[in-house]
Amino acid sequence: MRLSQNVIKTIKTVPKEEQAINAQLLIRAGFVHKEMAGAYSYLPLGLAVIENIKSILREEMNGLGAAEVLMSSLQPAETWKETGRWDDEVVDVWFKSMLKNGTQIGFGWTHEEPFMQLISRQVQSYRDLPLALYQFQTKFRNELRAKSGVMRGREFIMKDLYYFTRNQQELDAFYAQVEAAYLRIFERVGLGDCTFLTFASGGAFTQFSHEFQTVTQSGEDTIYLNKARRLAVNQEIYSDDVLAQLQLDKAELEEVRAAEVGNIFNFGSSKGEQMRVFFSDESGQRQPVYLSSYGIGVSRLMGVIAEHYHDEKGLVWPAAVAPALVYLLAINSKKSIQATDELYNILTERGVAVIYDDRDVRPGEKFADADLMGIPWRVVVSGPISDHETYEIKSRTETTLNHLKRDDLVRQLTGIEKQ
Ligand code: ATP
Ligand code: MG
Repeated sequence: MRLSQNVIKTIKTVPKEEQAINAQLLIRAGFVHKEMAGAYSYLPLGLAVIENIKSILREEMNGLGAAEVLMSSLQPAETWKETGRWDDEVVDVWFKSMLKNGTQIGFGWTHEEPFMQLISRQVQSYRDLPLALYQFQTKFRNELRAKSGVMRGREFIMKDLYYFTRNQQELDAFYAQVEAAYLRIFERVGLGDCTFLTFASGGAFTQFSHEFQTVTQSGEDTIYLNKARRLAVNQEIYSDDVLAQLQLDKAELEEVRAAEVGNIFNFGSSKGEQMRVFFSDESGQRQPVYLSSYGIGVSRLMGVIAEHYHDEKGLVWPAAVAPALVYLLAINSKKSIQATDELYNILTERGVAVIYDDRDVRPGEKFADADLMGIPWRVVVSGPISDHETYEIKSRTETTLNHLKRDDLVRQLTGIEKQ
């Protein structure tokens, strides 16, 4: 990407009412644009981060044998009335609207019911199960407060996976596989050390649901964490009874702030029964379909990564999600332009994502933007051509400058990209 051709500029001022560090940095660095409280637009760099997170999620979901779909956001009231979740007393985040003929519709805030509705048409026999479907989708929730930047949107991107199966054992086996996949995902995006499996409320069938909570001051949840066992309990269910049940010792728990990045639910046969979604088993008996669902907040994850990885100069993306691996710039640009163009072409051809700062601005501004955008490697070409035996390379997290010949530089950067 050539910055001279990118309409998105870094900016000096952020909306006054924006309190969250993630949004302040993402807005300043030109990754997102705030439309209003709880609604953000994703600009090229922000979208690149979202797409990188999605690629990791897609790999892990496909690895579980799940198939990707895209359900509608517009939802008929009838589907949700079957389980009682159309009621605003039951679900307090619905955005609802009305068709011109008066028919009520809602904007999807989650998709268990629509998926059950979908598969009721597909599944007749035990041979049609199990089935795993997932999607990336914009969800709408009329949240009371939206002060955590992209970590709490009224419109946000979620990855949701649904597993339909024949019995509790099959459900439990898959649930454990997803748990492991989720831990891998948080590891891959750079939050492995600070993300913990957390017992929480919300199990329709079982007593608990499992959340994945990332420890961060900017989180809205309080959890009680046993670091050694990598387990936590959400404050919402924290009691002596629960601790005894989970064999957790109060003395070994630490109270910390955290952000919920994922949540997995075991619905058992409850939705199948409520929505009358049945299959016939081996002996021809009608049985309710078992459901479990698995969410990850994609846009929230981007916010949490920004909260975790930044310093006084700006964002510091882990390479796996960074919008580009390299920030390439020329000093003394008239004389070094040819060498810089060549390097840009070579790296791009080899599949290395490069932000090429070819703008006609002072070097200081380029350095500052490289830091603000948080690109893992900065490469400086400082002509004239005869001196171009080496290029200066610096990691975003270190102060040491290294000087490498072009071949070595290209080898190093393509090596990182493949990791
Ligand atoms: P919270 O308790 O933070 O309101 P939730 O428990 O209502 O979240 P879920 O229904 O479990 O959320 O949704 C699955 C995932 O979607 C959450 O784990 C979170 O990562 C993400 N998510 C939920 N609400 C929002 C939101 N308003 N903005 C961004 N991401 C969200
Ligand atoms: Mg949740």
